[in-house]
Amino acid sequence: PRTAIVIGSGIAGLAAAIRLVKKGYVVKVFESNSYPGGKLHSKRVSGFRFDLGPSLFTMPWLVTELFELHGKNPVDYFQYVKKDVICNYFWEDGTFFPAESDKDFFIRRAAATFDENPNKLNRYLKDNKKKYDLTSSIFLENSLHKTKTYFSKKTLKAIANIATMGISKSLDVTNRAYFNSPKLIQLFNRYATYNGSSPYKTPGIMSMIPHLEMEMGTYFPKGGMHSITKSLFQLANEIGVQFYFEESVKEIVVKNKKAIGIKSSKETYFSDYVISNMDIHPTYKKLLPLEKHPDRILRQERSSSALIFYWGIQKVFPELDLHNILFSNDYEDEFNHIFDKKNLYNDPTVYINITCKENKSDAPEGYENWFVMINTPANYGQNWHKLVAKARSNIISKINSILNINIEDYISTEFNLDPVAIEQNTCSYRGALYGAASNSKFAAFLRHPNFSNNIKNLYFCGGSVHPGGGIPLCLLSSKILSDQIPSLSNGK
Ligand code: FAD
Repeated sequence: PRTAIVIGSGIAGLAAAIRLVKKGYVVKVFESNSYPGGKLHSKRVSGFRFDLGPSLFTMPWLVTELFELHGKNPVDYFQYVKKDVICNYFWEDGTFFPAESDKDFFIRRAAATFDENPNKLNRYLKDNKKKYDLTSSIFLENSLHKTKTYFSKKTLKAIANIATMGISKSLDVTNRAYFNSPKLIQLFNRYATYNGSSPYKTPGIMSMIPHLEMEMGTYFPKGGMHSITKSLFQLANEIGVQFYFEESVKEIVVKNKKAIGIKSSKETYFSDYVISNMDIHPTYKKLLPLEKHPDRILRQERSSSALIFYWGIQKVFPELDLHNILFSNDYEDEFNHIFDKKNLYNDPTVYINITCKENKSDAPEGYENWFVMINTPANYGQNWHKLVAKARSNIISKINSILNINIEDYISTEFNLDPVAIEQNTCSYRGALYGAASNSKFAAFLRHPNFSNNIKNLYFCGGSVHPGGGIPLCLLSSKILSDQIPSLSNGK
């Protein structure tokens, strides 16, 4: 039988394995950790369950289609609910804005809260939809690195409309052209963080991200984010994917410019195809040290990383929902610190995710499980020990001043994750959450393709390659790569 080896069982690695079985390959997945999922993992501590990584879930059909691909009914494996409130936003002056998923409600309430013209809001959302419709098939669903993508009708239409897409303006400048309210601009600027970038640098085309959330919805998987990993792992096992846990890949074996297998910490395995779900930087530096490296791509600025405190809280907060943002008073300075000074800002924007709002069993009665996150620079060797202590106190001040409480009195359980630990746990270069940052206008074109230009039969998926980081794009990366691998005639 023809075989494919997948290096890493992150969400993209799992999806690639599932797709390649469908194409008729025997698939082996090698994973350094003792568990699947990479960043999409969870932990139970003292009666609390915490999702450790991703908390926001959009485009659930990219998960369910993997079950359908194998003739399974997705609901037997994976279920989710749509959220009515996308996110609760708080500012220090007492402004509170629950962003509702119903567009008309959102527009009416935003116009009243931020004293903006509802027509402008309507136009903004329509323009975002247009950007998404024009570009999604080029940027997200196809390889940007195959000429045929450029000859499609859709691509030609997108190129003709490029001037309207805000590629040469920043997201912040784009948003300012529509709105006067600094708070509403801040709210829409926040979407730059969905790919780990700065709204003051990432291009205005990124305003298609709110479209994804507002038009297509945000969801919560029953059982928490980790059930995405668990259900795909179950499917992969059922269809015969072979997993090798605690077996790190040390080298991709290349012969005559063709990948022919891998060397793991235990032995050498040969295969017809090798797919790396490992971050592209260490894939080249560690697994392919003797091959030609795409230096320009590997040198790109990394996306932001994160510092997360996981707190068991001995109190219930009715004013909080699943997703909550407590905004900084000076967003631009905060991003200056993250991307230019590579430091933490004293007045951080604090994100609080509380899954027990949806999944009661995630915290004991009368308690809540708080995932408290701030954006940080990637790991450039800063003194994280010192930074984490300082950030903790800044986060607590922010929460206390906005929620009018002394939160420290209610923390009953605590652990944290910093950029160094993120790098150690998943081998993501510098602990970046989304591979390279999208802080330049050509960022979308500069990500590494899903295949190797120099080495035959070597492919790539995951958050550090095309089309980008985050669960939906990682899933799309696996689809794009598997579309390039031939189906075997005896494929099921
Ligand atoms: P990863 O999850 O990075 O996994 C790679 C796997 O490869 C790991 O299991 C690793 O152990 C394994 N591996 C690496 N090297 C080797 C080797 N040599 N041999 C064997 N195995 C190897 N995304 C969202 O969509 N929504 C969010 O709300 C969100 N929030 C986030 C919050 C945090 C704190 C973090 C950390 C990430 C967040 N993301 C979010 C991003 C999202 O988690 C990632 O984009 C996505 O999970 C990356 O998946 P991946 O397939 O690229 O691989």
